[in-house]
Amino acid sequence: MSLFSPLQFDVAVIGAGPAGSAAALAAARCGKNGGARVLLVDRAQFPRAKVCGSCLTDEGIATIHSIGATRVLASATPLRSVRVTCGARELRISRPAGVAIARELLDTALFEEAQSAGVDVRLATSARVRPDRTLELACGGQRFEVRASTVIVADGLAGNALDEIDGFTWRIAKRSHMGFGAILPAGSVQCAPGEICMRVVDGGYIGAVQLASGEVDVAAAIDPKLLRAAKNVALCARDMLGETVLDAPALERARWRGTPLLTRRRARVAAEGILVVGDAAGYVEPFTGEGMTWALSTGAAAGTLAATHAAPHQVWPRRYAALTRAPRLRCALLSRTLRAPRLVRAMLAVGERFPLPFASFARSLGRTSHACDHRSASTA
Ligand SMILES: Cc1cc2nc3c(=O)[nH]c(=O)nc-3n(C[C@H](O)[C@H](O)[C@H](O)COP(=O)(O)OP(=O)(O)OC[C@H]3O[C@@H](n4cnc5c(N)ncnc54)[C@H](O)[C@@H]3O)c2cc1C
Repeated sequence: MSLFSPLQFDVAVIGAGPAGSAAALAAARCGKNGGARVLLVDRAQFPRAKVCGSCLTDEGIATIHSIGATRVLASATPLRSVRVTCGARELRISRPAGVAIARELLDTALFEEAQSAGVDVRLATSARVRPDRTLELACGGQRFEVRASTVIVADGLAGNALDEIDGFTWRIAKRSHMGFGAILPAGSVQCAPGEICMRVVDGGYIGAVQLASGEVDVAAAIDPKLLRAAKNVALCARDMLGETVLDAPALERARWRGTPLLTRRRARVAAEGILVVGDAAGYVEPFTGEGMTWALSTGAAAGTLAATHAAPHQVWPRRYAALTRAPRLRCALLSRTLRAPRLVRAMLAVGERFPLPFASFARSLGRTSHACDHRSASTA
């Protein structure tokens, strides 16, 4: 432990994904007396890879604008349509909404935005919350102590920052899928610019989208048993992508990454001095591509609350539920439907004949209630 006296902050944020950076930025921009003292730490060195479909909804874009980070969207490409395939059935829906954006670029731009707003950013630094609510930071063999009025935990699905704090255990859904994904070279998978290509198979689904660089982001959610039974992840992805694969060796060469079980939530999302946001608070499978939207909205709301409210932990569980309950329920219902490909094929057949209800459902994805605007967090 360092001999220096502990570092002091108003708000300390663990994890610099979309949730953590949004929290840090919102806190820094709306603190009492012209700005809170904010610390943002991440154990990774950036740019860092993240398994993700890289599609950001209009709601997520609106949150980015609202925290004054519009320029982080510079490398985004607009999305225009969704193509869902299941067996011989295919439905193409016009959906001029949202953008595709590479996570390496978005996440780096977001923490840089926080840094330029005065946030003290420490990368390659892991953090854990001690039972006395102080933080222990570890970086290159050195350890530091940090004290903060509020700690915002945004350490994702695989974070361990809360392991020593009682009451934050995970509740993982029994039939949860696992995620995997990779960024593939341009032209290796058939996927038109601006189109989200989803393929539903027995035991899971896979999505592909073209990024501004021309590379293709491929991300999948799958029954862990199927993944274990597959010879390797690349072969599994090839089977799921079917005839859209144009360059199979590129899939073999790609750097595939996995995730833990996806559908889960914490037993609680707040305790005195602690607020939990983004995937670290809970997540539902990715078919609808809303995870970043929830991460940004819960992060921004918690950051605002932490910087402006005397006892934010008393307010956060209600605020968090208001932001996430409806979209999580919608996603949970959809993911249950996707477990039955025969039902999906029947729905696609109906969609081919009556596309309008499907198009309006697709447009509704990512939306939360207007009342949940993060700027109202402090007044809730
Ligand atoms: C297959 C798949 C496809 C998806 N597709 C989409 C999509 O198309 N659109 C969408 O919006 N969402 C999608 N998602 C979900 C999205 O990726 C997540 O919801 C989003 O990344 C959550 O952001 P976050 O900031 O909460 O967590 P993360 O982005 O996971 O960030 C957490 C950060 O915490 C850091 N960290 C962890 N532990 C510590 C520690 N102890 N100390 C310091 N730092 C720590 C990590 O290094 C990491 O940088 C998908 C997810 C999967 C698995």
